[in-house]
Amino acid sequence: MMTPREYNRQDRYLRQVTFSPLGEIGQRRLASARVLLIGAGGLGSWVSELLARAGVGFIRIVDDDSVDWTNMHRQAMYSEADAEAGKPKAVAAAQRIALINSEITVEANVTRLAAGNIASLAGDVDVILDGMDNFTSRFLVNDYAVSTSLPWIFAGVVGAQGQVMTIIPSVTACLRCMYDAPPPPEKELNAANTGVLGPAVATMASIEALEAVKLLSAPQPPTSPGAILVLDLWNGSARRIESLSPREDCPCCGQRRDGR
Ligand SMILES: [Zn+2]
Repeated sequence: MMTPREYNRQDRYLRQVTFSPLGEIGQRRLASARVLLIGAGGLGSWVSELLARAGVGFIRIVDDDSVDWTNMHRQAMYSEADAEAGKPKAVAAAQRIALINSEITVEANVTRLAAGNIASLAGDVDVILDGMDNFTSRFLVNDYAVSTSLPWIFAGVVGAQGQVMTIIPSVTACLRCMYDAPPPPEKELNAANTGVLGPAVATMASIEALEAVKLLSAPQPPTSPGAILVLDLWNGSARRIESLSPREDCPCCGQRRDGR
């Protein structure tokens, strides 16, 4: 007779294993997958919870910020007690994930992503996920990911608009193929200067998490990576820019091609 614990283990992923494109094999791949999530704000809250529930085996969360009351309308990981205490987001998120799924490993890093620490944070993962709030960090991730052939998923939300793109070095365009450089910080739109809606964040984070599940569970992602999905959820419009290839003169992809 099974103990309650064994019974739960078998049932836990049953409804997603029954989805045949994922299946038992996909579930085993998820269990051995390792992800680095940079930023545990709005996107990061939802992405980490969805991936923890899906059974992704290792989640490393990097964030140097603390929970405050302006986060509460969209950052689903956090409680009023976290905001009251000003708890570090990486720590609060890891504690919450431990309650959601005790069978996976979650690692909290209360630190800011920088050129000096990205290799140690990303060196042992299968994908980097975007929970970032600025393009300077995204370009740092992009350049590292392309130089080391590591997939990463770009996502961003401002107001009620968002975009998601899976970037696979040498297969798809990279961030620098699309934009030469990050915008000057004073011109960048963000939650502080433009506002952001919780349901828009949850929608884009769900798409990002689904892209991660596809990438990590299937040998070949079922949709072509490199397509950019752009949603305006206030106006109800969607735009999909089909798969882009690495740009010939992209400084980042070009360096990779030349082996420099
Ligand atoms: Zn490129």
